[in-house]
Amino acid sequence: MKPLPHRLLLGPGPSNAHADVLAAMAQPLVGHLDPAFLDVVDAVQASLRRLFATANPMTLPLSATGSGGMEACFANFVEPGDAVVVGVAGVFGERMCEVAARLGARVVRVDADWGRVLDAGAMREAIARTRPALVAFVHAETSTGACQPVAPIAEAARAAGALVILDCVTSLAGIPVALDAWGVDAAYSGTQKCLSCPPGLSPASFSPRALERLARRRAPVSSWYFDLNLLGGYFGERRVYHHTAPISAIVGLAEGLRRVEAEGMAAREARHREASRHLLAGAARFGFAPLVAEEHRLPMLNALLLPERITREGEAALRRRLLDRHGIEVGGGLGKLAGRIWRVGLMGENARVEIVDRLLDALGEELR
Ligand code: PLP
Repeated sequence: MKPLPHRLLLGPGPSNAHADVLAAMAQPLVGHLDPAFLDVVDAVQASLRRLFATANPMTLPLSATGSGGMEACFANFVEPGDAVVVGVAGVFGERMCEVAARLGARVVRVDADWGRVLDAGAMREAIARTRPALVAFVHAETSTGACQPVAPIAEAARAAGALVILDCVTSLAGIPVALDAWGVDAAYSGTQKCLSCPPGLSPASFSPRALERLARRRAPVSSWYFDLNLLGGYFGERRVYHHTAPISAIVGLAEGLRRVEAEGMAAREARHREASRHLLAGAARFGFAPLVAEEHRLPMLNALLLPERITREGEAALRRRLLDRHGIEVGGGLGKLAGRIWRVGLMGENARVEIVDRLLDALGEELR
């Protein structure tokens, strides 16, 4: 096979996997019921509980990408005809609406301008009006770079008896996530962002309250693969076969999580924020401006409004030159922000000042 090129992945994900993660994944294969592997599964589940800041026993790496985690959350808790309030402030809020609607939910959208956060008052009003079974929104909206304050919306949802679903795909391991303190019932993430692992797993967590709701379902979960009642057989105490766990991917995640815990979340968050500040200051020299107001800016996903010179010359052509001549990938805008912004991901291991400097140097050469 022809070797793939080395790239510096500074787009919206995947980010580069750490060499130790890739080395862990290259270890010899063992069986998914081998005691040596089950020890790894135990360690991963315990570490994910710490990272999600939850006591939820049902915390596990789903065999799926982030979208599969989203699908699992909705499939287990939506029944046809249920009202579901979804906060939409970008592409991934839109995707939640689509997933919920396909499961037969009556979706009630609360929209925010892209680049802004949801208005807690508008969410509260929609929740009070519709008394939904579920309230769902995105913590770190990767299409806009905005960070959603979670607690006020989760509190309103719980007060109305609704379960809270939170997308933590881009936030987990970059900024603190605190499921129990916020009152979140179902959350999912992805391994290819701030965990610095390849894509393929969706770390997820489900509260006892969510599992009680699951036990009271009128109809079986429509998805066999994501039915938590069945997944609990392998990811609970019994450790019995449900599907063949993606062994090497879980071993890689174990190493990724070990690295996160060795650094500590406070230091990790500080490193992400420092790299982001360095990028914004450096990119301003070329005329890029942040899309998101400072108090809501994500450090791991920097949405930069393009200067006129770049839109005039064609932003996609410049991104292509960064890739071809410098081996650096950055992301373009999605949906209604296509052609207007770049999305520069400084995720996990890539959230470093010296990595930002590589991008700024390359931009300097291209924009000379
Ligand atoms: N949610 C958010 C916030 C994301 O950024 C992404 C992917 O970028 C997803 C969901 C979907 O994850 P995946 O592409 O791994 O299926």
